[in-house]
Amino acid sequence: MNAPRHFTERVAKPGAIIVKVDYPFAIERLDDTYRVIDGRTDALVKETDSLSSAAGTLGMEAKRVRQAAKTRRRPCIRCTKTFFSEGSHHRTCDTCRHI
Ligand SMILES: [Zn+2]
Repeated sequence: MNAPRHFTERVAKPGAIIVKVDYPFAIERLDDTYRVIDGRTDALVKETDSLSSAAGTLGMEAKRVRQAAKTRRRPCIRCTKTFFSEGSHHRTCDTCRHI
């Protein structure tokens, strides 16, 4: 696959190839080892000999980052109190949700 330039030049170790990208994470392969890398910091998230295990971690971490990006303070549509909303589907605060 054609990995974005950011990952091919900054993250990959010499001799490693990028096998999968789910921004901001990538999987690089070097010999029989797969490494999940956080492209924002070049931090190693996971090192494994299993591509499917690395792919699972890549997917979960990328989903967590996307979800966190949607989280923000919003007013509850019932009581108008401000709360941390997980996204456009989440418009009532915990108190009002359980009434
Ligand atoms: Zn409320």
